[in-house]
Amino acid sequence: MSTEGYPRSDHFDGARFRLPGGTWPPSLLSVLRWKLTSRAAPWPSWVEDPRVPAPPPIQEGELAATWVGHATWLLRLGNVSVLTDPIWSERCSPVSFAGPRRVRRPGLAFETLPRVDAALVSHGHYDHLDLPTLSRLAEVHATTFVTPLGHAALLGRQAIGPVHELDWWQTWEGPRGARVTLVPSKHFSARSPFDRNRALWGGFVVEREGRRVYFAGDTGYGPHFAEIGERLGPFDLALLPIGAYAPRWFMRPHHMDPDEAVCAHVDLGSPATLAMHWGTFQLTDEFIDEPVRRLGQACANAGISAERFRVLRHGETVLDSRERREP
Ligand code: ZN
Ligand code: ZN
Repeated sequence: MSTEGYPRSDHFDGARFRLPGGTWPPSLLSVLRWKLTSRAAPWPSWVEDPRVPAPPPIQEGELAATWVGHATWLLRLGNVSVLTDPIWSERCSPVSFAGPRRVRRPGLAFETLPRVDAALVSHGHYDHLDLPTLSRLAEVHATTFVTPLGHAALLGRQAIGPVHELDWWQTWEGPRGARVTLVPSKHFSARSPFDRNRALWGGFVVEREGRRVYFAGDTGYGPHFAEIGERLGPFDLALLPIGAYAPRWFMRPHHMDPDEAVCAHVDLGSPATLAMHWGTFQLTDEFIDEPVRRLGQACANAGISAERFRVLRHGETVLDSRERREP
């Protein structure tokens, strides 16, 4: 990761990025404490999902979101297709022979993707920035890559490009009127013990022809949801993480639990939210489908119908053909 030449800001001190008023990456000591003091719930080694219908064709003015798994979405806004945090690899890890292994296949086969205009990478963690998948996209689809500051050098070394780096609140003007804005998230970055917070992290707002989707990336709960809703909403759809939250003493600063995800849904003012970041890779201690059960309870407690905060099956598509919003 290289940060030379980036302007100093309230979240960049000239060498490392940070959360204004927020937290730092977990210390190696606290990682050790987590591993020594708690035990991960056993996950199944494989889950065979029922087949779901292929994503249907869509018209101009329509919006479709297909959940591939984890934080990978195929978003189609009319004739523009975008992937978020694409990972088709067996493992999310620096090496191919060890590290968290997927327990279900991607909900969409890579070979069946439409032309991918842009791949949005929210941060450098291995379950979000997967170099083998990005290389495949660069080769097969001539995709443009959009990342937070600090990732272009890493991608460039793998001949992955073109890359557009964004700071928080900066916008990339994409093809055929599509716009992508990087927004803050409460998280951190590291691909090794030596590059902690050397690159920025965030979420994305994707818009085209008055349609707007918010993708949160990885994030703890915080006031940024209300700010993003105010500055860039209203949204047609929000994509929020509900998993990778246990144990709370360790994960809370950087990963929401389902109760917090429901609060975020309310703060954003989103008419419809879809759940992600559960059920594909075991990264933390909770059981594989505990996030789904807890989300149902959290929605019931908050008086939010299950239709407003949905959990899709892997590969399932939500098609929104309502009248487009005026910007
Ligand atoms: Zn992360
Ligand atoms: Zn993650």
